Amino acid sequence: MDMRSKEAYIKMINEAYKKLPEYGLRVKAARFKPPHVQLFYQGKNKTVFANFKEVAEYINRDPDVIRKFLAHELATPATPSDGRLILHTRIDLQTLQNTVNFFIKRYVKCPMCEGYDTQLIKKGKALIIKCSICGAESPVPPIK
Ligand SMILES: [Zn+2]
Repeated sequence: MDMRSKEAYIKMINEAYKKLPEYGLRVKAARFKPPHVQLFYQGKNKTVFANFKEVAEYINRDPDVIRKFLAHELATPATPSDGRLILHTRIDLQTLQNTVNFFIKRYVKCPMCEGYDTQLIKKGKALIIKCSICGAESPVPPIK
């Protein structure tokens, strides 16, 4: 889709919003602020993502999907433990936060309307973001 038709699309969506009682959804999208990543270290080589469950619940994604993504991106095994996620290497806070942000940008945010009220669904082998706000279904890269 070229920029011009994307602009037209967004304009159309915005116009449609104003006529809907669900106008509040867009306000909610603007307020989408996942909790900041909290971590601590165990020994020399373990990083504990302390509020993993809280972040997963806020962004409404399967913790196991997030775990797989983080393990792949950070190139380390990741083990869930009591609402926390144990990464078997030392990761600094900024790197972990950036990686979580990258996940949200790719697997939570709707690329069409930029809303966050979405679902991640599988269609055959394809992975798709289905947006509850604008209805768009956008394919995203698989999570290894
Ligand atoms: Zn959308």
